[in-house]
Amino acid sequence: MQNPSRKKIAKLREKLNPSLFSEFSDRYKSEPRGQFKASEGILLAPETTRDVAEIVSHCNALKIPVIPYGGGTGLVGGQIYTGPEIPAVISLHKLNKIRDISVADNLVTVEAGCILQELQEHVAQSNLLFPLSIASKGSCQIGGNLATNAGGVHVIRYGNTRDLCLGLEVVLPDGSVMNNLNSLYKDNQGLDLKNLMIGSEGILGIITAATMKVFPKPVEEATAYLSVPDLDSAIMLLQFFRENFGGLISAFELISKASFQFVKKTGLVTRVPFETTPKWAVLVDLGSEFHIDLHERLVEVSGQALSKKLILDGVFANSEKQRLDFWNLRELIPEANRRIGYIAANNISVPISKISKFVEMADAEIAKLGGLTANCFGHIGDGNIHYNVFGLSGESHDNPELKSKIREIIFSIVNSLEGSSSAEHGTGRLRINELRRSRDKTYLSTIRKIKGTMDPNNIMNPGVLVP
Ligand SMILES: Cc1cc2nc3c(=O)[nH]c(=O)nc-3n(C[C@H](O)[C@H](O)[C@H](O)COP(=O)(O)OP(=O)(O)OC[C@H]3O[C@@H](n4cnc5c(N)ncnc54)[C@H](O)[C@@H]3O)c2cc1C
Repeated sequence: MQNPSRKKIAKLREKLNPSLFSEFSDRYKSEPRGQFKASEGILLAPETTRDVAEIVSHCNALKIPVIPYGGGTGLVGGQIYTGPEIPAVISLHKLNKIRDISVADNLVTVEAGCILQELQEHVAQSNLLFPLSIASKGSCQIGGNLATNAGGVHVIRYGNTRDLCLGLEVVLPDGSVMNNLNSLYKDNQGLDLKNLMIGSEGILGIITAATMKVFPKPVEEATAYLSVPDLDSAIMLLQFFRENFGGLISAFELISKASFQFVKKTGLVTRVPFETTPKWAVLVDLGSEFHIDLHERLVEVSGQALSKKLILDGVFANSEKQRLDFWNLRELIPEANRRIGYIAANNISVPISKISKFVEMADAEIAKLGGLTANCFGHIGDGNIHYNVFGLSGESHDNPELKSKIREIIFSIVNSLEGSSSAEHGTGRLRINELRRSRDKTYLSTIRKIKGTMDPNNIMNPGVLVP
């Protein structure tokens, strides 16, 4: 007898135009860290919102799991179905047009499958900036960025993806289309369903298009590596820079000694900015839409910070090439970590004022396990820290027991400091237990009620986010 799941897929094939089907190739079977694997699936590649609506409506009638798939760069397994049925994986890559740019409104209307970097390059031709900046920009898609509410290095100035979105077009689990491609900066009518969809990781529908904010491109940028005596000084420096530069701070990144050492050791860069590698440094980036001699101002204000003992030393980018080299080093840190081989990667957030407490507590607890060290770096300007743990003697990083012990330690510390154990990547399939343990009962039951009401057949990305 034919397996019931296969029977449903056969029926779906009868209903849909064969041109919508594509090959379920290897790229759809795993995710960047290889923690989740999909064995079987059918791949659909719609070109229009109407195609998406038709596919979802048939899947709903047949009760086939639907897995939205963007660039596949998600790090919590949300794009990889691991359940018992054969899912319909819907890749948005053909739904990738930029529908409209309105310079007067500072808005762009873009389809979900547009790759982030392509959107950035496109708006740059109109002298505009789309400020979401993440290392996966060459592959991830706007729909995936919205579904995970992606962060990155410019959150301090421009906010998360949520803050960049004014309106959405979404195919709901029954196949109906909710068109709310709003171009309004102010709109207090009704419930804000857009913000329910953003960060919902494909469990409430498929985002097919969005109206996103764009900004004037800075005409001056200034960048420096500044070494700091300790983490408290880094936080005080941030405050000092805020007083002097206000909203011109585009990024404020923490870099540890281990980060500098790893990028050099792995040969990813040949030189690091300081002759003697400091214990801690920050990479500060400023941008102005008008001419104010930003570089000179940065040097001057850093001099004042030096006399206040907030910094120990500074290296300033004197050319655009040097600026890019400075950023290149920062962006290569995750790859260096990967090559060195971490045991556990944690992407956490705590209130900015509690960052040094978090690092102090985490270092102390990790030290108790023996033979371990951490590389701590990231977006201290918004309280988001990467805390990756390594074996001192370079032992195999594939140690699930130790990994879960480390995660448990970090999770408890983060909770005690009222932080989040998933600052950027969402919940996916990986972090459901942590969600369950960190939120109260009413919050969890409300998620279940929303999901049950909007998707009674539980077809949209089952296994993700819902505790
Ligand atoms: C090298 C690297 C660096 C990264 N850096 C960052 C970073 O700095 N900040 C950060 O936030 N993340 C980062 N990430 C994680 C990842 O890039 C982001 O989560 C990104 O937003 C995912 O987009 P995607 O298109 O690849 O989505 P996918 O991986 O395809 O999907 C992610 C989730 O969104 C759902 N989804 C995808 N498209 C849609 C849609 N159209 N409608 C509804 N649901 C959808 C999927 O079902 C899945 O649950 C990084 C990843 C890598 C590999």
